[in-house]
Parts: sequence; C-alpha cells; structure tokens
Amino acid sequence: MGHLIPFAELARRLVADHGLGATLLFAAAADTPSQQYASVAASVPDGVNLVALPAPPALPSTAPVRERATHAAVSSVPHVREIARSLTSTAPLAALVVDMVSVPARDVATELGVPCYMFFTSPWMLLSLFLHLPEIDAGLVGEYRDATEPIRLPGCVPIHAHELPGSMLVDRGSDAFGSFLSMAKDVSRVDGILVNTFGALEPVVGDGTDGVTELPMHAVGPLVWTRPAGVNPDHSRVIRWLDQQPHGSVVYLSFGSGGTLTLRQTTELALALEMTQCRFVWVVKRPDEDTASGAFFGTRRQEDDDALGFLPEGFVKRTSGVGLVLPLWAPQTAILAHASVGCFVTHCGWNSSLESILNGVPMVAWPLYAEQKMNAAMLEVQARVAVRVHADAHGFFSKEEIAGVIRRVMDGEEGACMRRRASELRDKAEQALTEGGSSALALAHVAGTWRSSCT
Ligand code: UDP
Repeated sequence: MGHLIPFAELARRLVADHGLGATLLFAAAADTPSQQYASVAASVPDGVNLVALPAPPALPSTAPVRERATHAAVSSVPHVREIARSLTSTAPLAALVVDMVSVPARDVATELGVPCYMFFTSPWMLLSLFLHLPEIDAGLVGEYRDATEPIRLPGCVPIHAHELPGSMLVDRGSDAFGSFLSMAKDVSRVDGILVNTFGALEPVVGDGTDGVTELPMHAVGPLVWTRPAGVNPDHSRVIRWLDQQPHGSVVYLSFGSGGTLTLRQTTELALALEMTQCRFVWVVKRPDEDTASGAFFGTRRQEDDDALGFLPEGFVKRTSGVGLVLPLWAPQTAILAHASVGCFVTHCGWNSSLESILNGVPMVAWPLYAEQKMNAAMLEVQARVAVRVHADAHGFFSKEEIAGVIRRVMDGEEGACMRRRASELRDKAEQALTEGGSSALALAHVAGTWRSSCT
C-alpha cells in the first residue's frame, strides 16, 4: 500500500495536469486483505487505468516480505511486457515507471525503446544510502550491526547501527543481505529517479553534491493520497466521532498497512492510552509474535482482524466515549486532516510521515521495520516534528514511556513547538506542489520530456 498509494497520486497528476495517460499495474497477492486494495481501487482517479497483475506462484509461508516482493516483481515481467505491448497499439508509450523492487521490468522499457524511471516512495535519505551502499560495503570490515561509527551521508542525519534497515543487520554473507545489496545497486539501473520528498524537508535531495551518481533526480513530493477512500460505514463513523471532539484533543495511532505488535506490547499500549487519559483513535491489528510486519503476510483472515478479543479485558468498554478502536484499516488521510487530531503515533512509514506533515500534525515515532528507524531519526533530529519512544534493553516499550511521550507531544511547549514546525513544513510542502513550486516544476519537466519523446 505504501507504494501503490503514492503511485496512484503520481498517475493522477500525470493525467490531470500533464495531459498524459497512465496505466497503473499493481501486484495483487491472491491472499491480500482485500479491504485496503478495494479502498484504493475505489478511489483511483478518472483516466488512470488500474490493472491487477496475476498473483505470482506461491512461496512458502515463511518467506520474508522482501523476498515475496522481489519474487512478485520478477514473475510479473512477462505480464508487464504483454500489457505494455498492447498499450502501444493504441498510443505511443512515453515511459515505464517502476518502484524500487520492480527494476527487473526495465528490460521491457529497453525492448520498447522507452525510458525507465523509478518513483522512489521512501525518503531521499534511504535513496542516498542505496546509492552509497556499494562503496560503503566494499570498505566495511565486519557486520553493520557491530559498527560503532554511524554512517554519514551528505546532508542527512548520521545513521547509527541500530537505526539501519533490518536487512542490513543480518549477516553480510546471507541471502537476505545479498538481495538487499542488489536492490540498492539496481536503483542506478534506471534512466532517472522521481523522489517522494521536497527540499524543505530534505534539503540536499538530488543536488548533485553526493558525487555517487549522475542520474537525474527529481524531488516531486510530497505525493500522498488525496482522494476519498471507498464508502465504508465504519469510516464515516470515525469522522462523525472526530467532529464531536475538541480541537487538537485526539491521539491517532496506526502502524501502517503492515505493522504489528506482539500481544504483550499491544496490551501495554492499551494501558498506556488509559494512563494518558487522552481521547484516541487506534487502528488495531491482530498481534503477531514473530514479526513487526506480520500484517503483510497473507495468512490472515479478515474476520480474525475484526475480532478485538486480544485487547485487555474491559478496555473497549472502559474507554468507550473517549476512544475508538478500529480493526485493521482506517481512512487515514481524512483522520489526519481533521482538526480534532493533535498527534499521530506512527510507525514512520514514509507515506504516513508525509501525510502527517501535510496536515501539520506532530508525531510520536514508533518505528517497526524497513527504513522506519532512519525515518524516525530524521523526523526527530532534522525535521523536528516527532519524538521517538524508547525501548528498554529487551526491545519492550513500557506504558510509562509510551504515555510520557504522548503527553510530551500533546501538552506543553515542546508539543506546541513541534506543531508550529509541522505547520511550517506543511506550508512549504503546499508551496512546492502548487503551480510554479519546486515539486510541480520538477514533475512538469519530467512529463514534458516524456511527452516530447513520443511526439
Ligand atoms: N493507510 C490507511 N489506513 C490505515 C493504514 C494505512 O489509509 O489504516 C494508508 C496510509 O494513509 C498510507 C499507507 O496506507 O498512505 C501506508 O503507507 P506507509 O508508507 O505509511 O506504510 P506501509 O504500510 O508501507 O508500511
């Protein structure tokens, strides 16, 4: 979802503002919880053709998420080829745009003689890490997890070992690290990169001072979900409830489309919410004991997620009127845009972070997987719109810690400061996206190049 949603917005802009057509191919795992996909499908803008690629041959249920994504990308190449060829029978093809895992489809662009661009849906800081990784890796002795010096990338906050993506913390000789390194190398195999960020948030994005690549880089963000989601009675209920709450009084909690907590951690978070006595909207997923991204695994059933029996006994009743618990999925952009929301407890997925900033909402950063720990560091230290929660020596977040950080963001001068800073960034993001702004100009430039190449 974190890739599909910004791609849908990119496609919308290419169609609405730049006179191009767009066909958006997405990988629908046969067992993906359909509610999320249905909500995107229902909101894909006119003029954008949404095509589900056939589900790839099944992998063992233990296969990690990134391996599944790579497998889906490789398996889909013949279908991408077939669809791209059939598109050329009605209109010239201007470009193929891939995400960071779909670079294998680049061969199709080469065969058809069109450029292949990447739309990078994570921050510039991660892209910069990818671009530098081959050189960093060649010079590293030992394992990344044991490094005592942080990785320093130009213009980015230093990245400490414990903040690196999980795939860099495994043994460097492992397949998992090997495939991560090859994904990092793959980003240089395209003809240009669009990055979902903007200069006021990441000032050095693509400014050429990196010295590691000559690839054209275009900061075109923040591109987030701007269309209403499909109609869901639960979703109207949450907005009606928010309408009745005081301004800035509600804590919104969500760990993205894939994030999960263990049962013990879910219980502790529930108790922390009770301790804060804040109003809240919490999007809850069934706990997972094995992985922080358990909801990405396709073995779950919708009805499992709908049942909230895993919450502490009496929690829903005790907090009734003060809080809303929504199973699995919520209309996040509508919630963050609501004036009653005062803070966002987030896993720091890049879309969630951008959506929070675009609504001037400060964050409690609770990163779980992928590059989220780097994002959290950047949001706290560089952007100054978030405070991180800190785990104890066993990786557990106590209710006192969670409640304390939420209160710091909701109350007092520190929270007010972050709110002002988030509002400043929101204004700058809006400027970047409006006609004549840096991101709008960057996208217009790329779209112009594509248009002229096929006339
Ligand atoms: N999202 C949503 N409702 C939810 C959870 C997530 O609409 O209950 C959307 C959210 O607005 C964002 C995307 O799903 O656009 C999640 O992307 P992100 O990069 O934050 O995290 P990921 O799911 O990729 O880890």
